[in-house]
Amino acid sequence: MLEQLRGIVQEVNAAKDLQIALDIIVKRVRRSLETQVCSVFLFDADLNSHVLMASEGLNKEAVGHVSLEIGEGLVGLVAKHAEPVNLQDASQHPSFHYIEETGEELFHAFLGVPIIHHRTVLGVLVVQHEDRRRFDESEEAFLVTLSAQLAGVIASAEATEAIEGVSPSGHKISDTVFAGISGAPGVAIGKVIVVFPKADLSQVPVRQAKDVAGEIEYFARGLNKVRDDMKELHEGLAGKVAEEERQLFDVYLHMLDDDALGNEVVELIEQGNWAQGALAEVANQHIATFEGMSDPYLRERAVDIKDLCSRVLFYLQEGEEVKTEYADDTILVSDELTPAMLAEVPAEKLNGLVSIKGSGNSHVAILARTMGIPTVMGAVDLPINLLDGKEVILDGYKGEIIGNPSEPVTERYINTIKEQDELIAGLQELKDLPCETADEHRVHLWVNTGLMSDIAQSLEQGAEGVGLFRTEIPFLLSERFPSEQEQTRIYKEQLEAFSPMMVTMRTLDVGGDKALSYFPIEEENPFLGWRGIRVTLDHPEIFTAQIRAMIRASIGLENLQIMLPMISNVNEVNSAMQLIKRAHRELIQEGLQVKFPPVGVMIELPAAVYQTRALAKMVDFVSVGSNDLTQYLLAVDRNNPRVASLYSAFHPAVLHALYHVVQDAQDEGKQVCICGEMAGDPGAAVLLMAMGFDILSMNAATLLKVKSVIRSVSLDAAQDLLDQVMQMEDAQMIRSAVDLTLYNAGVDRLLRSSRTN
Ligand code: PEP
Ligand code: MG
Repeated sequence: MLEQLRGIVQEVNAAKDLQIALDIIVKRVRRSLETQVCSVFLFDADLNSHVLMASEGLNKEAVGHVSLEIGEGLVGLVAKHAEPVNLQDASQHPSFHYIEETGEELFHAFLGVPIIHHRTVLGVLVVQHEDRRRFDESEEAFLVTLSAQLAGVIASAEATEAIEGVSPSGHKISDTVFAGISGAPGVAIGKVIVVFPKADLSQVPVRQAKDVAGEIEYFARGLNKVRDDMKELHEGLAGKVAEEERQLFDVYLHMLDDDALGNEVVELIEQGNWAQGALAEVANQHIATFEGMSDPYLRERAVDIKDLCSRVLFYLQEGEEVKTEYADDTILVSDELTPAMLAEVPAEKLNGLVSIKGSGNSHVAILARTMGIPTVMGAVDLPINLLDGKEVILDGYKGEIIGNPSEPVTERYINTIKEQDELIAGLQELKDLPCETADEHRVHLWVNTGLMSDIAQSLEQGAEGVGLFRTEIPFLLSERFPSEQEQTRIYKEQLEAFSPMMVTMRTLDVGGDKALSYFPIEEENPFLGWRGIRVTLDHPEIFTAQIRAMIRASIGLENLQIMLPMISNVNEVNSAMQLIKRAHRELIQEGLQVKFPPVGVMIELPAAVYQTRALAKMVDFVSVGSNDLTQYLLAVDRNNPRVASLYSAFHPAVLHALYHVVQDAQDEGKQVCICGEMAGDPGAAVLLMAMGFDILSMNAATLLKVKSVIRSVSLDAAQDLLDQVMQMEDAQMIRSAVDLTLYNAGVDRLLRSSRTN
């Protein structure tokens, strides 16, 4: 059974398009279940109906023509309840809807199961039989399992057609929405530029060849280089391995021959594809076919093809040194965006960002917010390989990408962009005004920084200090650990730029979703593993160099404070303190006039929440990292789009934890700050102010928005709101109550609708 399931899924995976995939499904399922009919109905939003897309057993002419409206017939019933319907005699059921063209009157037994992807019913898979008998339990279980596995493949095939402007039943469509998660608010319209990692066949985008003959020649050269490598390997192995194994290389060499893979690639290039794209398409097709074979030996050959073609791809990419040409209105799309990719695009050309992987609180989304670039994360169904060069609309408020935009929709979004620009321009007036409520309660707004470009932007927005300098960002952009001197230069630039304002430098916080290419950490559960202070305490040489660089950089400025990330117990603080004291002592022994800086801890683990008092006693200040605190309290990976809807900083558990931290820190007489992303959410900021946080630290792009909202409310109203929400049990209700308060205070729609966390 498992073998059959696997075989069907693999074969469907290898299908070139949706129709071929569906035809394979109906053929293979009918055979596996030894039934007489298997059909697939898919929901077509354009027709608002379930369309018969493929069938083995029903009249062929009905395929593509027969459709059932929502809720109509047994298919409608399965879709409506999102549950299987298993009947001995379908015609006796009250929902049965006879359609003459299909010829289904001959069949009595009916089993329909929903095809569900991300809680959405895409369609219904049906089997039917002449006999009046119920399909048995194992048949039903088989179909349910298969449908669950096929849903993703069908969704992705549908998305591939949708981006080309075609609905499942072949109608021309526009404004196809691909859902993701809001990464940074704002709207952008522009041309997609796909960036992809090297030597990865699965991620090469389809692109037009600029010079067909040149691409063919270029491909031939790459192929020849691999042939030479193979011959060399072949000769080098003489006498070392069995002759049969050596002969495998001959098989490889044949695969590269003109009448095999090579020829197929050239044909695709002649049709206008660039060499890399043509190679990837042919390779992926063959890999999928081999992976779907039942013979284990043949299945293994998929690995050989992948290896061989990756070698050719390597030469194609190495030879070309492709300089990505960024359009003036670039929407940068990648499977997994990295800070380095962002840094490569000229700022004036970057309109928007899309990452297939990651979620709203991934570090790359945080960077995007800091840069003020509308971003969508976790757009898992976006057919990335087909996007290059396409015009799209990116809605960073809702977290959506709209393909094939129609004129009216584009017009509407152009208006939102105008509204957005006007709002931002209007906020500039607040830059030099204090952040105080209508009843004159003063709140301090600091910024989170990391990139050098953040400095100018922060100062322009009227920041009053730096609550979090993410020192790992310069580490992430480097190709090795920066030396103590290099670090000193970077830190000095920060401290000087903000002097006399305080700058909170966090010690290196890598691990989780922040991986240094030159210091890889491979773990099953990276967010529960070797992260932040755990790494640096295990590598005191890295920690000490960083502390020395920070203290050295602060000479004559005295505006440094140091902050420790991922603290889970008092011993970590003790150990870190000793290392800081030692570094300080060493610098004094070197004859430098250095002051001992204030030191603080981040409260970002649930354990730390309940040890706030003990931790606060040991340091000068505490600062809540609500991004991680939310992830750990709710057990929701901040990077995983699948569970993103569960990630909410408005969850009552999060709010109660925050309130607890503020009260304990105040009882110890220590300053309490919050530097997680929620501080930059205008609605959340109102609650945080009411709780009593001394400092809200956020990305510079949101600073004036928060200031504007705080200036529109009174502390009294904010405290009433806090009292009210602390009694509530549900994040959504809390969010609504906050929104209502902002609405009543006359806050603009674009300031209210940031992310939903
Ligand atoms: C946090 O966790 O809230 C925080 C500020 O740190 P980071 O987002 O860098 O993990
Ligand atoms: Mg953190």
